[in-house]
Amino acid sequence: MRGDVIKNPEKSLQTVGRFAPSPTGPLHFGSLVAAVGSYCLARRDQGKWLVRIEDLDRPRVVAGAADLILSTLEELGFEWDEAPVYQSRRMARYEEVLSRLNEGGHIFPCACSRREVLASAPHPGEEGPVYGGTCRQGIPPGRSPRSLRLRVPAGSRLFVDGIFGPVEQCLASAVGDFVLRRADGLFAYQLAVVVDDADSGVNQVVRGADLLHSTPRQIYLYACLGWPVPRYLHLPLALDAAGEKISKRQGEVSRRRHGENGRLLAQALCFLGQAVPPELVRAPPGEILRWGVEHFRLEAVPRENRIAGD
Ligand code: GLU
Repeated sequence: MRGDVIKNPEKSLQTVGRFAPSPTGPLHFGSLVAAVGSYCLARRDQGKWLVRIEDLDRPRVVAGAADLILSTLEELGFEWDEAPVYQSRRMARYEEVLSRLNEGGHIFPCACSRREVLASAPHPGEEGPVYGGTCRQGIPPGRSPRSLRLRVPAGSRLFVDGIFGPVEQCLASAVGDFVLRRADGLFAYQLAVVVDDADSGVNQVVRGADLLHSTPRQIYLYACLGWPVPRYLHLPLALDAAGEKISKRQGEVSRRRHGENGRLLAQALCFLGQAVPPELVRAPPGEILRWGVEHFRLEAVPRENRIAGD
């Protein structure tokens, strides 16, 4: 059943997958899992695999982290098909897409501060406070625009995730009209990810399950823009011993000792439920990745977030 979901509806279309790390620190085990999963699932279909550096949120970017992530990936045996895309170099394109959304009547300026949104939120949503719609019909007199929001429709929408199965969400009650350009002028992740994936021809998004509930927002953006929606597969998250998502500091993959590359890849594959033969653990990383590409079983990927190393 799960195998059926990801089958490419247009057989002639080559799979294009991607890995999109944020350079807020070195590669950690949680991102390595996303890299391994997206790589194996693209390559097993003879697809392309791209890398995008999500350095949109300038204040959170750590100098040197992007280069470190790329060199770590290289040492682990990953090969990408095109030069990595950097979001920080694509501002003009995001602006262009915002204008298009504006022409279509999809966005509106909002004067509310974070605190005001919190205060006016009808109820807390799964994804933070739900926007109450204060500026939907126009900015109140005397106020100035701060951010730009996308108008979302009422009613639930369903998408089928290749691992988690059907996911239903009502955008209006779960998140409300959401921000595409923030008050500080930065473009929101939700906008950039859709524009970047679409422009790169990505048709298969494999990433951590922390983004499962962002996906309906992204699918709605595709609909507003009239662009084809990719397949989505969300991988279980690697947790630390306290049950929290692994942070950059804890699961750092960059500061590994010589000879550890293969073991790390094998651990990531095992985390994804793949039965890596024990004798392979000492093989060079390229060989382990090749094994992953040839033997990756989607049905074996667990849906539960788990403590890494268990
Ligand atoms: N940049 C995000 C992260 O590092 C991933 C975004 C995505 O894959 O859509 O968690």
